Amino acid sequence: MNNQVVTRFAPSPTGLLHLGNVRTALLNWLYAKKFDGRFLLRFEDTDQDRSQVEYIEAIKADLHWLGLEWNGDILFQSKHAAQHTKALHSLAEKGQAYRCFCSESQLGIDRKLATSRGLPPRYTGRCRALSSAESEKKAEAEPFVWRLAIHASEGEVTVPDLLHGHVNFARRDLDDPVVVRSDGSFTFLLPNAVDDAVDGITHVLRGDDHLTNSAYQVWLIEHLGYHAPMYLHHGLLLGPDGSKLSKRSGSHSVAELREEGLLPGALIQAMGRLGHPNMPEEAHTALQLAEFLDAEHVSTSSVRWSDEEMWRWHTRLLHELDCETVMPMIQPFVGDVQHERLAAFAALIGKNIERASDAALFLRLLDVNAPLQAEALPVVREAGALFYQHALDAWHANPEWKGWTAAVKEKTGCKGKALFMPLRVALSGALHGPEMSDVVAFLGHDAIIARIESAIMKCSEGQATA
Ligand code: GLU
Repeated sequence: MNNQVVTRFAPSPTGLLHLGNVRTALLNWLYAKKFDGRFLLRFEDTDQDRSQVEYIEAIKADLHWLGLEWNGDILFQSKHAAQHTKALHSLAEKGQAYRCFCSESQLGIDRKLATSRGLPPRYTGRCRALSSAESEKKAEAEPFVWRLAIHASEGEVTVPDLLHGHVNFARRDLDDPVVVRSDGSFTFLLPNAVDDAVDGITHVLRGDDHLTNSAYQVWLIEHLGYHAPMYLHHGLLLGPDGSKLSKRSGSHSVAELREEGLLPGALIQAMGRLGHPNMPEEAHTALQLAEFLDAEHVSTSSVRWSDEEMWRWHTRLLHELDCETVMPMIQPFVGDVQHERLAAFAALIGKNIERASDAALFLRLLDVNAPLQAEALPVVREAGALFYQHALDAWHANPEWKGWTAAVKEKTGCKGKALFMPLRVALSGALHGPEMSDVVAFLGHDAIIARIESAIMKCSEGQATA
């Protein structure tokens, strides 16, 4: 028997990929990878009004960017329409699905009545008693929905779950859910379950907000003669403030994050580690996360999203990249720079930036006319023209970092921060950065002189405007 693991990501193409979807996609991808299985992509595109081709393309592009490649052809739920209808008919024939003619207002009254008696607002089962002849006849004249005949005074539905063990639902607690709306369209339950069965999905990893859906779906799948998949219902992803993750509570679309220059690996790391406290530090790629995935111990409680954590990973991963990869990332922030110079610049500052855009903080290393950072100018002015004049003279006599600073120290009497900071700022334009001996080597003789002279100018500009 072929017992290869098959998981799937089943987005509805009604919007862009958001953080919550990324978590589901990633967990399913990781699970498949861990067991050398297959990860399928299925667009649940049966909501014709809201499904859009642009979203299909955007979701595909986002998954590519994240490196969550799917196996085989993309599946489309709409292509299984005939199977959905067939499934409904086969259930109807056995009396396991029935037409319900109750109007919205009737259902409203029923719900109120139940609540006033302290009962759950479940469907009364009124139309379940209709014979098929009666139902056929009524259907000619009245609108109807299709429901599943699940509610019963006895019996259970068991959802097999990797995290929660086997979750038993008493049928008396379950409703008769609507599977076809009055306009003839299917709700989520049946197509999603039938497709999982038809596509050979062995494991469904999704949020625990789907747990009750799974009870209905297991019932459905088994009554259609299929085998239910194994589920894994994980705790939900919340916003940083603990509220449901939404745009307002700090969710992002993948497209937004990509535009902000985020490394895809940073999103993968921040997301893949949520709810996995034992994930080892050294797992830095998605495949390594898969290797160490401990699915049975993914948190059942909800977890909170943190942008800071994601950007921390971004910085870590950025520092692991080689120069060739960093160069095109920083190039947009530093303008036209000759290739070799850019390579040396990337090598010099690569470990001192948190994001590619931070390269702009060090523009002075490339261009003496680049304006000083707002916090750097006061340092230059405080050191004063005389300090820099001494520095200039000392450089001519000692053109390397150690000897130079020793000479400046002797001439100016400055030491420690008062000695190094004005030199750092004058040369690099920033308060923090690479080793000064590396800065000096990068700039070379003439560029150093030009920057010290420019600092002297800044001091006198300061005096003129003071
Ligand atoms: N199309 C459903 C959704 O986007 C799929 C849920 C599932 O994973 O089964 O919520």
